[in-house]
Amino acid sequence: MRMRKKKWALPFLQEHSEVALQNPIHLKSRWNTVSDQRPIHLEIGVGKGGYINQMALQHPDAFWVGIEKDVNVVCIAVKNFLNQENDNELFITNDASELEQWFDKGEIDVIHLNFSDPWPKKGYRKRRLSSDGFVSKYHDILKENGKIILKTDNKILFEFSVVEILKLYFVLEEISVDFRREEHQEDAITEYEAKFMALNQPIYRAIFKKI
Ligand code: SAM
Repeated sequence: MRMRKKKWALPFLQEHSEVALQNPIHLKSRWNTVSDQRPIHLEIGVGKGGYINQMALQHPDAFWVGIEKDVNVVCIAVKNFLNQENDNELFITNDASELEQWFDKGEIDVIHLNFSDPWPKKGYRKRRLSSDGFVSKYHDILKENGKIILKTDNKILFEFSVVEILKLYFVLEEISVDFRREEHQEDAITEYEAKFMALNQPIYRAIFKKI
């Protein structure tokens, strides 16, 4: 769903460019210093940031980086983060296809893909964040044994993602076709996830390990 344009979004993000980075090529191979040696979790397509902001509070032993290309939603993520007390978070306000410009090989511990846009038309398959073009970049920037954790409501996208990821030197570590049937307090509920849970729709989730 497209968010309405917000006049304040760009000026606000520019004003907070210390936490809303546009093109952090200067940080490539330096994330260890930024994270203060903590494991780095990267969420791609954070939307309004409900997940990353909550997870960063819940897991201060990790450092959280959120990528989001739509300034009209990431401005809300950054605003909410600035109202929190934690400092273990940063945002990149750009398209994730540029990923390899910002992260060196083996710099990231975990990649989170939450309710990515399904792009159902065949011609748009390359835009899916779990298509092989993206997955190969994830493989490069993940550490040995690094993980991709994926959640979605969309069965077709879930099946597509499992096939794409397992094509490229990952093994399946965990899989659930109704993740929220049990309590999982360790894992925050995203904005989209809350909507699907309210409709009683199952949440698909899988964890893949890099080999
Ligand atoms: N993860 C959030 C949630 O679960 O509530 C938002 C889900 S929303 C369906 C998908 C988000 O991914 C959108 O905000 C979209 O702008 C973002 N996105 C899609 N492709 C992207 C890309 N290539 N780079 C950065 N963000 C992207």
